[in-house]
Amino acid sequence: MFKTSFISVFKSVDLASRRIPVIMQKADKPGPTIWVVAAIHGDEVTGIETVLRLNRFLKRNNFEKGTVYTLPVMNPLGYELVNRYMPIEYQDLNRCFPGSHSGSGAERITAKIFSEIVKTKPELVIDLHTDTMESIPYIYLDQVLDSQDKHLVEKILKYSKISGINYFVENIKTYQKELQNTITGALINIAKIPSFTIELGGPLVVKPKFVEIGLNSIKNILSHLGMIKTIKPLWNYSHKTPLDGLYEIIWQQYSSDYSGIVEYKVQPGDIVKKDQPLARIKNLFDKTIQIIKAKGDCIVVSYADQSVCFPGTELFTIAKKNDKAFQFIK
Ligand SMILES: [Zn+2]
Repeated sequence: MFKTSFISVFKSVDLASRRIPVIMQKADKPGPTIWVVAAIHGDEVTGIETVLRLNRFLKRNNFEKGTVYTLPVMNPLGYELVNRYMPIEYQDLNRCFPGSHSGSGAERITAKIFSEIVKTKPELVIDLHTDTMESIPYIYLDQVLDSQDKHLVEKILKYSKISGINYFVENIKTYQKELQNTITGALINIAKIPSFTIELGGPLVVKPKFVEIGLNSIKNILSHLGMIKTIKPLWNYSHKTPLDGLYEIIWQQYSSDYSGIVEYKVQPGDIVKKDQPLARIKNLFDKTIQIIKAKGDCIVVSYADQSVCFPGTELFTIAKKNDKAFQFIK
């Protein structure tokens, strides 16, 4: 069964209904329920096409069992204005979960999305985003804060491994500071539903290569759950950057101290050693003014999509090995 519907969000000033489109496909046989959602950041468009392609695939191929719900655009207002935020209040919807039916405008929207998902008791929720243009595809794992939830960690890790792309755990300090109220964070830590984010290249334009990667990683998981015909062997992209154990993702550690032009010495996906040069900053007389070196062994996840830098311009996202990256708080 293929069914389209809407989550009603609010009525606009011109009395037009603002709605979030929902596509649901149900196989004849009962089975797990999966959600794949996209574009909560309105300018992160590759996930939209990934969702449409997934639905086309399920329609044309034998959908063996279960139900797949998809939300191609969770932030239609942001999408229309090519904007990450919900433009009415300039709020980041992905910092407003689980939301509140009597809260801010953004929280009222996220509460509706959250309750629609939770009431279906899904096995897994995949949230599609994009990082920078120059990024490897990767899964971004939330911290599971309650130590009683070890089985949740196991499930999340199992599905991450099956996806065939690299996965990284959020650094606990960053997580507690600003990321507990993402859709995936709230699903895991409030509703106890396995969930993760997939980052698929850069924003603004649909990138076909990353659509393929997103689609293949989702198909791997559906195959594992018996929801589609078995894929053998499973698709694998992570062999391009083979990593063992858990890696913790680190933001905001590699910034320039000067204005200048950046000469990148490494690429996303490179595995680098401590003290290895990552970038040279030079001035317009070709004089080196700063060498940015790796503070430890790590993998380069992404770099800034620009050659110009200023004091404080963040240039790299890296991930470093940390087998204790999952840290329970409670
Ligand atoms: Zn995003």
